[in-house]
Amino acid sequence: MSVLVFVDHTQGSFKKKAFETVNYAAETAKRIGAEVTALVLGTVSDAELDLLGQYGAQKVLHVNDTRLDHFVAKAYTKAIVAAAQQSGAKVIVCSYNVSGKAVAGMVAMQLKAGLVSGAIDYPQTDNGFVVKKTVFSGKAFAHVKINSDIKVISLVPNSFSVSKTEGTAGKEILNVAFTDADFGVTKISEDVVKGEVPLSEAELVVSGGRGLKGPENWGILEDLGKALGATLACSRPVADAHWRPHHEHVGQTGGTIRPNLYVAVGISGAIQHLAGVNSSKTIVVINKDPEAPFFKAADYGVVGDAFEVLPKLTEAVNRFKENQH
Ligand SMILES: Cc1cc2nc3c(=O)[nH]c(=O)nc-3n(C[C@H](O)[C@H](O)[C@H](O)COP(=O)(O)OP(=O)(O)OC[C@H]3O[C@@H](n4cnc5c(N)ncnc54)[C@H](O)[C@@H]3O)c2cc1C
Repeated sequence: MSVLVFVDHTQGSFKKKAFETVNYAAETAKRIGAEVTALVLGTVSDAELDLLGQYGAQKVLHVNDTRLDHFVAKAYTKAIVAAAQQSGAKVIVCSYNVSGKAVAGMVAMQLKAGLVSGAIDYPQTDNGFVVKKTVFSGKAFAHVKINSDIKVISLVPNSFSVSKTEGTAGKEILNVAFTDADFGVTKISEDVVKGEVPLSEAELVVSGGRGLKGPENWGILEDLGKALGATLACSRPVADAHWRPHHEHVGQTGGTIRPNLYVAVGISGAIQHLAGVNSSKTIVVINKDPEAPFFKAADYGVVGDAFEVLPKLTEAVNRFKENQH
């Protein structure tokens, strides 16, 4: 019996959220008395695969097929189902990210498994198998009991900190009999954002809204981002107006993030925006309107003009950093 974890990589290297899913699978396996099998699709070096053992995988199944270097939902689903059957998986774990969201439902359907998408805690196994997840755009929690023999869980990134062990994992190549029909969709181009921690993995995020008035004013937000080492985000109207690129847009129709710190500047806090950010561990709101709805979701709030507050905050952060040396 195993817990199978589908581990994402970016051009052959694993990011924090990949190790987080392996950690999560290891804890789940401990709770149900199972082994952890990690599944990796596409081109990844042996040295990189070996890292998975340090995060709790006992075995790594590798489908070493270059056609899987880019995400293809149908082929990925087929490989995950094949790995689940080969390893006798009772629980299948993936990340609640773009690829995880796309495959979890299809895998669950093919294996006749119950699915909890967007889990934020380890399963409780004292009385059945119960998984905690957020509902109503992060405004409430639900505890969902999965009654089927096989269970699928997608884990919200940044739900846990990552921990390393001394473990090692055995590696095995898994051959999957793909057909051309499994690759019915082909990616023809990709724009990769370089030099930043991607929003989905960022622990610190500084985000701007329409209150910043225009793209020419983003420098003060970038300065704070740089001082904190934070990734930038924005509200939807900002991306729609092309002030900022769309990959920075968070909310119901954008990215869902769960950083340790979310600083919202000149953002009103509409429900659709909160849907993507209100699971952040600490929320700081800077808004000149004391009645802005975002203050209700904030841990800390500054009522003030962003154009005055931001430079002072950045200066304070830089001073604090200097004093640390
Ligand atoms: C179906 C649907 C889906 C949507 N999905 C999303 C989504 O995914 N993400 C999203 O963000 N929105 C989404 N929206 C839009 C959402 O409803 C809001 O319109 C949007 O979030 C507002 O963006 P904002 O807060 O930047 O702008 P505004 O609502 O215009 O707010 C600007 C804020 O800046 C403050 N401000 C102004 N000047 C300053 C200053 N000098 N200093 C400090 N504060 C200042 C104002 O007091 C105000 O609170 C969606 C809407 C719909 C209908």
